[in-house]
Amino acid sequence: ALMITDECINCDVCEPECPNNAISQGEEIYVIDPNLCTECVGHYDEPQCQQVCPVDCIPHDPAHEENKDELMAKYLIISGQA
Ligand code: SF4
Ligand code: SF4
Repeated sequence: ALMITDECINCDVCEPECPNNAISQGEEIYVIDPNLCTECVGHYDEPQCQQVCPVDCIPHDPAHEENKDELMAKYLIISGQA
């Protein structure tokens, strides 16, 4: 999964781009639900939120490191295909 750092400026550009609805507004900044973030595997070749973030504050979440197979398995589960 990816994560949003405290450099987030709450611009709201990323939230509508997420195909998994993993992004929402948290108490202070936007947040990514690691249970829903597939790093866009299953939908796109590149993480869409990273593409649009103007301050480049969406790195990999070191607490939720996953390989492509694990991300695809997550995609299949949350999309109801597994
Ligand atoms: Fe959503 Fe993709 Fe960003 Fe994860 S990487 S939060 S699935 S847009
Ligand atoms: Fe925050 Fe970047 Fe999302 Fe804007 S696009 S809300 S700065 S994480």
